[in-house]
Amino acid sequence: VQCEMCGQTVAATRRVIIDRTPLNVCNICAKFGTPTSPGTAARLGMTANVAEGLARRERRMGSKDVYSSERMTLELVDDYGARIQKAREAKGWTRQELGGRIKEPENAVARMESGSLHPTDAVAQRLEKELGIKLFEAVKTIATARKAR
Ligand SMILES: [Zn+2]
Repeated sequence: VQCEMCGQTVAATRRVIIDRTPLNVCNICAKFGTPTSPGTAARLGMTANVAEGLARRERRMGSKDVYSSERMTLELVDDYGARIQKAREAKGWTRQELGGRIKEPENAVARMESGSLHPTDAVAQRLEKELGIKLFEAVKTIATARKAR
């Protein structure tokens, strides 16, 4: 017979409970489980609950697959304009000076600071570098069919 835990073929297996699941295992693996005996199952609240417990565990594992498609993406912060303006003023730079450093016209800097112009990724990266600020934040996105947005 084969041990249901380690897969070894042995002369005889013992029936034990491992992780609330009854298994026929070899003597070595039996040490990891609780021996079954009349009363043991009842003490562990098993009997009728075994099937239900296994189904529950499968559902849990199934839902884990959904979360495995979860990933982190970098998104522009909502208050990027305020962050840019505050950092620029802290440096004592005019919008024109900052524009020169990030290779953008002064009016683009003004519009970015007012929040009406989203900087491109490249511009935002230059802003981060020149101003020593963070304009991106890691956002957890879940790529599933049920995704709300
Ligand atoms: Zn074994």
